[in-house]
Amino acid sequence: MRTHKIAVIPGDGIGTEVLAAGLEALEALASHTGSFKLVTEHFPWSSDYYLKHGHYIPEGGLAKLKTFDAIFFGAVGSQQVPDHVSLWGLRLPICQGFDQYANVRPARVLPGVKSPLVNGKEIDWVVIRENSEGEYAGMGGRSHRGLPIEVGTEVAVFTRTGVERIHRFAFELARKRPRKHLTLVTKSNAQRFGMVLWDEVFFEVAKDYPDVKTDRELVDAMTTRMVLKPASIDVMVATNLHADILSDLAAALSGSLGIAPTANLNPERTFPSMFEPIHGSAFDITGKGIANPTATFWTAAMMLEHLGEESAAKTLMAAIEKATASGVHTPDLGGKARTADVTQAVCDAIRATAAKPVAA
Ligand code: NAD
Ligand code: MN
Repeated sequence: MRTHKIAVIPGDGIGTEVLAAGLEALEALASHTGSFKLVTEHFPWSSDYYLKHGHYIPEGGLAKLKTFDAIFFGAVGSQQVPDHVSLWGLRLPICQGFDQYANVRPARVLPGVKSPLVNGKEIDWVVIRENSEGEYAGMGGRSHRGLPIEVGTEVAVFTRTGVERIHRFAFELARKRPRKHLTLVTKSNAQRFGMVLWDEVFFEVAKDYPDVKTDRELVDAMTTRMVLKPASIDVMVATNLHADILSDLAAALSGSLGIAPTANLNPERTFPSMFEPIHGSAFDITGKGIANPTATFWTAAMMLEHLGEESAAKTLMAAIEKATASGVHTPDLGGKARTADVTQAVCDAIRATAAKPVAA
């Protein structure tokens, strides 16, 4: 039997609730299919941990994480710690330290889920976010604090290497989808340097993928196209900041932020990749037992696929869809179900699957 070593980092708020649900579904899947085994180790790195120890990741923490096949992550963010401290303390050191430069965010309206768009059923997108540089490169500074001449800069850094590899990744992914259509999203009318580099490199790389149809959109226009013409979009590639925003919009248009999954991939597999729901720690519903675990289940399916467990990933995805179709919905989807009810529905659906793994 294949064994995969998973590092589990629940983090803060509903991160701990949805990850517990995710692990329950993964366990049900492993024991039901009998085709793989997960060996998990929990890491308590959270904002409470930070307040106690002064850091999120202890000395040697990344070296330890490097020995795992994948990282299963909840969320980080607390009302006791400024958001930029928690984000830069836990999530970004992992993404950047492990060169997880390709952030993949699928969006689709699952059966039984209502989109705020009348034509929401047409949504079947993958948002590809550059995850290692750009606006979140961490460059910038502040001077003259408190004075009227105070300056704060936030420098977006784009390297040819960084831009080319995310475009190649996007073309490779688009090529595997039925429609083979990739939309380049930038803001190269207003931003003349890094964004024009994005445009130029995109069309250079495009020459190697004549089978992939391409077009381009400015990021502001892209928001309207997502709402008004969802069927015109297949895969989109955008910068760290732009795709961060577009993927939250994609999540809302597909029914709820509680559904949207993401994979932070190191495509070369030099380092482990990290799988997490897109959402944050959701202070307003923490501890109420009503967080939607669907995004975490979906990201677990992406993790299984990454680990080579395609058939188990398909079984899990089918179970998720059976649960959403049956109307077991948490309040974010307009229902009254609790996290535990959705988890139960997914685990039941897994156990109702033919005992043999479904064909890949
Ligand atoms: P959020 O995603 O935590 O919440 C936004 C809204 O969506 C809230 O109303 C919340 O209740 C709802 N929501 C989110 N996930 C849900 C789920 N699974 N089920 C039902 N409803 C859900 O975003 P925010 O409020 O902007 O941020 C809260 C904290 O989380 C901040 O500290 C922020 O920095 C952090 N954050 C972390 C990550 C991450 O770890 N990757 C991502 C986004 C935000
Ligand atoms: Mn975000």
